[in-house]
Amino acid sequence: MNQTAHISKTECDPNAINKKNMTEQTVLIAGGGHVGLSFALLLAHHGIASTLIEKNRYPYISPDDDAQRSHYLDSRNTALSRRTVQIYQEIGLWDELQSHACRIDAVQISEQGSFGQAALNKAEEKVESFGQVMENAWLGRKLLLAVQASPLITVIDGATVTNVAQSSQSVTIDIQVNSDSSADSQTRAKSDTSAVNEAEQVGWQQLTGTMLVACDGRDSTVRELLGIGTQAYDYQQSAIVGVVQTDKPHEHIAIERFSPAGPLAVLPLTDSDGDGHNPQQAGYRRSVVWVCRKGEEQQYLEDEKLFLATLQSAFGQRAGSFVKVGRRGAYPLTRVLADKQVAGRCVIMGNAAHTLHPVAGQGFNLCMRDAHVLAQMLASQVLRGEDIGDTQMLSRYEQARQKDQKRVIRFCDAVVHGFTHPNPAVKIARNLALLAFDKLPNIKPLVATYAMGLKA
Ligand SMILES: Cc1cc2nc3c(=O)[nH]c(=O)nc-3n(C[C@H](O)[C@H](O)[C@H](O)COP(=O)(O)OP(=O)(O)OC[C@H]3O[C@@H](n4cnc5c(N)ncnc54)[C@H](O)[C@@H]3O)c2cc1C
Repeated sequence: MNQTAHISKTECDPNAINKKNMTEQTVLIAGGGHVGLSFALLLAHHGIASTLIEKNRYPYISPDDDAQRSHYLDSRNTALSRRTVQIYQEIGLWDELQSHACRIDAVQISEQGSFGQAALNKAEEKVESFGQVMENAWLGRKLLLAVQASPLITVIDGATVTNVAQSSQSVTIDIQVNSDSSADSQTRAKSDTSAVNEAEQVGWQQLTGTMLVACDGRDSTVRELLGIGTQAYDYQQSAIVGVVQTDKPHEHIAIERFSPAGPLAVLPLTDSDGDGHNPQQAGYRRSVVWVCRKGEEQQYLEDEKLFLATLQSAFGQRAGSFVKVGRRGAYPLTRVLADKQVAGRCVIMGNAAHTLHPVAGQGFNLCMRDAHVLAQMLASQVLRGEDIGDTQMLSRYEQARQKDQKRVIRFCDAVVHGFTHPNPAVKIARNLALLAFDKLPNIKPLVATYAMGLKA
């Protein structure tokens, strides 16, 4: 590091943290995946400025070409819980998102070759829906457009956070502008062009903010730079994801099926397929998350027919016949939990804090609840004229989130281990448990409330 330059919008003179100019407090966000982008928007909703640094270049997107969804984040789909939908409603984004959201009206759970099964439906539970399924590409696109439109958010993409230093009043990070970053990114031309260009010219830059939130994913660099260890557990499984077409309409039913290799989820999707709308396919499009043993994924990625045939045999006819499948992707499954989520003025969030098994579609939803609580606590600090990087307040945030986080982590693990255990006695026990869940009064509403993220 041999030069110093300044990015005026994000620079925060430590002495400026006083009660007169609290609005000048700035949050640095490392990582602009769905969690980083959503958190920046939550802060902006409360009038708090942030600078978001994202390693990858965002592609150019325009609000005018909604029909063409660019798959720039990944090709997965996410089941958004009721609580997540409420959070997006709160910040005024749900109207933008909902055209590509598919309601879940019912959930069916069963095990391949066993007697136990259970079902939840919205009429019985007296809810509007259990959640909504959305393509990650659409969610990412809408988040990015909203971030671009916000005067309170500065985006520096194509830049990696490489160092973190803290004082009693601020956090300073080094960012390295990636050498492969071309100058054609138009997403960044919004507000701080001169500062970004300056960073581009020197190749690296220092930014100072009141606090830092690390949303830089499972292999978080910031977490490592802060010396925070992790507890990692390799499930020895991979998730294969893709979009399928069935010959039977989905009727807004989500189906969770457990097979000896691992769980399988088939979720309803909206009709358009990324290239426009095809009325012939209305209601027949579904998202598949299929968990297989580690090492088996390649054949299913390469061989479409094998994928469809194996899926069909694990699933039976409950979704009809699987007719077509699009491009598949595979994700190795490891649970990674940060030893702590707060260090001085820094908070670890999103997958950087807890990467979970996708079995119950809870990972992102949990992150959104964390983000919502932290944004509210920071907003209260601003209203009181207090420091948003206050270590005690951040420790209170960490404490406040523990119960919800621990419950979700335990639940996901119990489902994965309970349903893949080969012991016949365990198999009988879990099928009895499924039946009990289905028949006993009061259990379903409780589980549904937790699954929808409505109770922490
Ligand atoms: C198969 C599968 C299905 C899933 N389905 C669901 C579901 O239905 N419902 C649900 O709630 N959850 C689901 N999840 C979980 C969900 O996908 C994650 O919780 C979510 O993507 C976490 O987002 P994130 O922004 O924290 O991390 P990431 O998406 O990993 O984003 C991290 C970002 O940080 C950037 N970055 C990394 N290092 C740096 C650096 N040094 N400097 C700057 N930027 C950096 C990266 O480029 C990236 O953009 C699923 C997960 C999987 C694997």
